Amino acid sequence: MTNNGKIYIAEGDDELLVLICVAAHCGLGGHWGLVAITDIVKEKLHWSAIDADIKAFVQRCLVCTLVEWFQGAPTSWSADSYSARV
Ligand SMILES: [Zn+2]
Repeated sequence: MTNNGKIYIAEGDDELLVLICVAAHCGLGGHWGLVAITDIVKEKLHWSAIDADIKAFVQRCLVCTLVEWFQGAPTSWSADSYSARV
């Protein structure tokens, strides 16, 4: 637990980080953008590379990539789509 009440995720537990990102990104409502997923995760959790790990996860989401590619929309990690999905 951190001093601001968040749960600290230990370094090197990549499997847990993926599970957290899956739950936050693909949960109810599904495939939220980078800002939304980051806000959701940071509300209760902390780890040292939290921003980079979440960004990498969202960038690699196959569903988001395919949907956005077929729609010709900006990718979920581009600045244009952040505000639209939050
Ligand atoms: Zn996605």
